[in-house]
Amino acid sequence: MKLNELRNGVCAVIAEKTGSQMVQSCNHAFNLGAHLVELRLDFLEEEFSIAEVLKNISGPTLVTIRRKSDGGLWEKDEHSRIKILQLAQYSGAHAIDVEADCFHHFPANGDCLRILSYHNFTQTPDDISLLHKAFEAHRPELVKIACFANNNSDSVRILDLYQHAKLPLIAFCMGTIGFPSRILALAKKQSPWMYTNFSDNLVNAPGIPIFKDVHSIYDIKNLSHETKVFGVVGDPIGHSLSPAIHNACYKELGYNGVYLPFHLSATDFFAAIEAYQSIPVMGYSVTIPHKEKAYQFATTSSDLVKEIGAANTLVKTSNGFHAENTDATGIIAAIKNKLGESLDKREALILGAGGVSRAAVFALKKAGCNVKVCNRSAERAEKLASDAGVATIPWNQRHDCKSGLLVNCTSVGMHPNENDSPWDSNYFTKDHIAFDTVYNPIETRFLRDAAQAGAIVIDGVEMFVCQAAAQFNLFTSFNAPLDVMRKTVLEKLRRNKI
Ligand code: NAP
Repeated sequence: MKLNELRNGVCAVIAEKTGSQMVQSCNHAFNLGAHLVELRLDFLEEEFSIAEVLKNISGPTLVTIRRKSDGGLWEKDEHSRIKILQLAQYSGAHAIDVEADCFHHFPANGDCLRILSYHNFTQTPDDISLLHKAFEAHRPELVKIACFANNNSDSVRILDLYQHAKLPLIAFCMGTIGFPSRILALAKKQSPWMYTNFSDNLVNAPGIPIFKDVHSIYDIKNLSHETKVFGVVGDPIGHSLSPAIHNACYKELGYNGVYLPFHLSATDFFAAIEAYQSIPVMGYSVTIPHKEKAYQFATTSSDLVKEIGAANTLVKTSNGFHAENTDATGIIAAIKNKLGESLDKREALILGAGGVSRAAVFALKKAGCNVKVCNRSAERAEKLASDAGVATIPWNQRHDCKSGLLVNCTSVGMHPNENDSPWDSNYFTKDHIAFDTVYNPIETRFLRDAAQAGAIVIDGVEMFVCQAAAQFNLFTSFNAPLDVMRKTVLEKLRRNKI
């Protein structure tokens, strides 16, 4: 197997219980676009002939038998494990994966690459670069280093290994924090392939992406050193829809970019953004709990960000990062798209006093609305109202508002509490315009009740798309294909039911 022919390959990891299932899954993976399959023989529960298995697989194979002590399932004796791997090496496997302590059992055989691998499921050791050097001294054809990331600086340290590599290298971090390093190793470094999970059985490979997700979200084949990197930072980040929609738009426009989910804890924010400057990451969408920190981190900020005191967008400039708040502009765009007219002098009641409420209050006030805030906890409502110079309404008097814009910025009605609503259905009128910022579910109880009373309704998906489109424009200078964004969000929400 020629490594340079495999640049940006997708390796499907196959973990099946029988030899015939193994063969079937490998060939299925090739049909779906895998470039290489890793046969995890430690998952097999029956006797098998490795030569027979390899003979029936239609593309390049990598054979691995991971011991229990290394995070695999192999509990039988070491002698038989080495024997099977040696057999694989001479029976047509394109690569074998072996650990340092047994590497001497596998002299070079020109046809089969020897991958010398190191896995650490708890941390990225401080001396990882020394370990890397020691591995290269064994002269394998390829070194693989996979360590668990406890923070984002671990990922950057792992990616730094490529700079000093004398032999081909696959190095990445495991865990959700480590996920971006798997893609960045392909785009910005010279990793020949990335590992993806093809089987339901695979265990103990934290953060490994699912094969079909990688294919549907990322344009792996076209990643290159020139690819511009963007992403979303948050904690948690696993359910974010942003990678799917931004990457779908890059594909649609043929834009050379990749958008990644960065899992950043509250304490890791500043160090992580600094560390990723070396990639560099050109822009971030910012979500809970980092919006205030994003504002503090930015060198420059829009007037709206300064007023709100929080940003959901950071764009790299020649002197640091510029902060924007597209939640605020997205709220206005979503309302204007529906009403098609100026918001000047409209009455607007904001339900809630959290992060999104802040964006809504300042944006609607700026658009000319007569804004009032109403929140379950009066103290938070008072604070927001006094910051923005608007009035408050006590929570138990909210239904006195018989007309105008009602904006739900509370989390009430969000999945899984889909039967809840912050507004009693009896108090909706046809003179209300009900806007729910909650987008999961798409049609909330709040919106259903409002529509039944004859009110105009605006859903949270529209706001989500408008804020993402504004970010897309700030990141790429291109207008976002709104239909692609909408379609991707709706598909994801309907399919995932997250
Ligand atoms: P947040 O800062 O945590 O604020 C939550 C708000 O909900 C607070 O005002 C809280 O009131 C109120 N609340 C929670 N449970 C309540 C209950 N049982 N009864 C009455 N009020 C309740 O959250 P956030 O960041 O502002 O997000 C709010 C919503 O916006 C989320 O549901 C999210 O889905 C949505 N969102 C939408 C978009 C979009 O693009 N469409 C973007 C971001 C967020 P207290 O102060 O009394 O606790």
